[in-house]
Amino acid sequence: MKPKVWVFVEQEEGKAHPVSWELLGKARELAEALSGEVEALVLGQGVELIAKEAITYGAERVYMIDDPVLEYYRNETYAHGVIKLCEKYRPEILLLGATTMGRDLAGSIATALETGLTADVTGLEIDPETKNLIMTRPAFGGNIMASILCPDHRPQMSTVRPRTFPLPEKDETRQGEIVREDLGLSENEVKVKRVGFIPKEKTVNLEYADVVVSGGRGLGGPEGFKLLRELAELLDGEVGASRAVVDAGWIDYEYQVGQTGKTVRPRVYIACGISGAIQHRVGMQNSDLIIAVNTDPEAPIFRIADLGIVGDLYEVLPELIEAIKKE
Ligand code: FAD
Repeated sequence: MKPKVWVFVEQEEGKAHPVSWELLGKARELAEALSGEVEALVLGQGVELIAKEAITYGAERVYMIDDPVLEYYRNETYAHGVIKLCEKYRPEILLLGATTMGRDLAGSIATALETGLTADVTGLEIDPETKNLIMTRPAFGGNIMASILCPDHRPQMSTVRPRTFPLPEKDETRQGEIVREDLGLSENEVKVKRVGFIPKEKTVNLEYADVVVSGGRGLGGPEGFKLLRELAELLDGEVGASRAVVDAGWIDYEYQVGQTGKTVRPRVYIACGISGAIQHRVGMQNSDLIIAVNTDPEAPIFRIADLGIVGDLYEVLPELIEAIKKE
């Protein structure tokens, strides 16, 4: 039997999270190195369209559990479904997004299957000799990159942050198989019930922004974000931040970019008054174009910047804003 590389396709209210497609792209590479197959898991209610979409992103086979018990996410019901499928089909690798749902689910699955789990990986490859999965992630405060193996247990499991891998091309002509499976769990067996749902008023869509204008300690205070917001709005982007300013309480944690914040991959990343510590860089170094504004010509951010401006951000940004407004 060919080794199976599995991706858990995360969906909410019939909409798939893009990290699932990013993982399918990576899974194709891994399956090729293993001479294996790429398969997806789709759980929920009314999810057939998502199962079909998974095929367009590269799944050769989709295991689908479509059941009213799975109408909304609960660890108990979703973990039950995934564990059941893993026990039946024995995948070699199982990848999930390092999202709120993925992180919650992955731990329960790994515990039940008595296997290892590497969280928040930044790299995945197959060892050409042993065919084991090499999972890379920052360790010791981001000072080293650790290569983690799970040689004796299956599946080899990882959670991967959104935007770590690029979105693959969608191909509507791709053919694949949808295998319908039963959950085998009725609503009255489930202990957790949802009594209400209050959506958050505004959420920051940093990970999928095309332009991110980020500020660091060089802003000098929270009021500096007004200038960054003005520039971000002109460029149809979002504001980001370093951990130093989040820790200082200048801006909320949801804006933090980096190892303990979000991973972004915009077309343009503008780092203003950010030194470029390794823990910040791991969250933004895959951006297409990096522009840095910093008074210190030796700042590490210039090592990865495509365009570096040595200067005071309070002089550079107003000029940039004026120039954009004139266009
Ligand atoms: P600083 O390092 O103080 O840099 C400020 C920069 O602003 C300097 O380069 C200075 O030259 C420049 N500057 C000053 N005035 C101006 C001006 N007027 N105009 C232009 N430039 C100016 N950091 C993150 O960002 N994200 C993370 O997720 C993260 N996770 C971490 C996890 C761990 C376990 C640890 C130990 C650290 C983590 N850090 C993280 C912290 C990281 O190590 C740095 O301390 C932090 O990124 C520094 O933030 P900064 O660049 O804003 O501040």
